[in-house]
Amino acid sequence: MFPNFRQHHNCYCAFCKSPRRIYRKRSISLMNVLGSALASVVMMFAIWQQFDPRVMIVFVVCLAFSEVFVKIRWRLSVVCRACGFDPVLYTKDPQAAADKVRFQLDVRKQDPKYLLAKPLNLPAIPAEKAKALQEKGKGRLVSRSI
Ligand SMILES: [Zn+2]
Repeated sequence: MFPNFRQHHNCYCAFCKSPRRIYRKRSISLMNVLGSALASVVMMFAIWQQFDPRVMIVFVVCLAFSEVFVKIRWRLSVVCRACGFDPVLYTKDPQAAADKVRFQLDVRKQDPKYLLAKPLNLPAIPAEKAKALQEKGKGRLVSRSI
């Protein structure tokens, strides 16, 4: 089969189940390396007007910039725009991820833009189960739709 050239990966948010598109690429590929090489050669001729060994430093800086850009782009695309759920943060610190979701849901509640929007499909916990969980002191409820 053909290699997959699509930039995005279609999936669903693990928390609110809304459809998501996240960037496929997590770090630079061969094309980015070639692009950085081309950019550094162009910059070399722009700065020194001849071949100069300092082009290697420019090349490494270009590579670093593109890697940082691709990483940040992927990291930002992973976070759900609807509920603010961040799967990467959740694997490291579930409590911090829960706080972020709570904050995002509060913002959503205040914002009149979302008044007529489709409500989020949040995980529902029955009242008895929620009470039992809170009595056990296991975690904290971020949201509860009844
Ligand atoms: Zn979500």
